[in-house]
Amino acid sequence: MEKTILGIDIGGSYVKFGVFSLKGELLKRTAEKTKRNVSGEEALKRIAKTAKALAPPETIAGVGIGVPAPVTKGVVENVANLNWGNIDVQNTFKRAYAKDALVVVENDASLAAFGEYKSQKNPIDPYVLITLGTGVGGGIVLKGELLRGAAGEIGHMNLQKNGPRCGCGKRGCLEAFAGAAAMKKRVKERLKKGEKSVLKGRPINVRSLFEAAEKGDALALSVVDEAADALAFSLASISALLNPPVFVFGGGVAEAGAFLFEKIENRMDEYLFFGSVKPKLEKARLGNDAGITGAMEMVKHVQSDSQ
Ligand SMILES: [Zn+2]
Repeated sequence: MEKTILGIDIGGSYVKFGVFSLKGELLKRTAEKTKRNVSGEEALKRIAKTAKALAPPETIAGVGIGVPAPVTKGVVENVANLNWGNIDVQNTFKRAYAKDALVVVENDASLAAFGEYKSQKNPIDPYVLITLGTGVGGGIVLKGELLRGAAGEIGHMNLQKNGPRCGCGKRGCLEAFAGAAAMKKRVKERLKKGEKSVLKGRPINVRSLFEAAEKGDALALSVVDEAADALAFSLASISALLNPPVFVFGGGVAEAGAFLFEKIENRMDEYLFFGSVKPKLEKARLGNDAGITGAMEMVKHVQSDSQ
């Protein structure tokens, strides 16, 4: 029987699993709710159990795992959203799944970038993915190699000294302006101060915020403009470093699409170095499958390196 590759994408809400052929076709998939308020060890044991049922270790060529934290040699220092603390994800998973299995662990947004990069017919390189969700993540592929470890943490680029507090504990990161959680927080603070808005008394989420902004609600528009400005400023800095022809956006906030992209593009003209390519802004293509696809591609990549 031909072996398969298992891709696992551990997110704050769901853990996604995909079984792929060695050629990279998705054969089977499943998802389960992320178990919260348990230790990393407990959570990984549960994930390994599902993995075993879906893809028994003897049928597997390798397992790729994406986690929402910077990863160094399979170890994470802290998975902030899950309260995991310092844990060796690679070896903990191996112990629970199969100790001699090939297991590769990387940051989830980085793997998503690698999955998107590998899915292109004519690869854009350098390839820069920005994931706009509750937080802001990113991944960079340069000359065919994913920048691993804590590289590509675009959401934690510093934009403002003593700026608003970020989820990482520091101040003034891009995420503190353009993450969905940060935008919601800003709306709430300003409503509390008595500003008028159609959002008053309504549930505030990315959709309601962007709807209100598109209809011209002054408060919503100003929060979205601030996020777009922070993004434009950050992208211009990335352009000065890497000069990518395209920036690719994934994540829930990116669903705002043209409305957000136009704002970012308008602001970028002001910030972009004259020698930089004027980058195109595009939506990512793989959507929810980017993480598991990237996990699979990384297993293939590591295998081909070791041969
Ligand atoms: Zn930060």
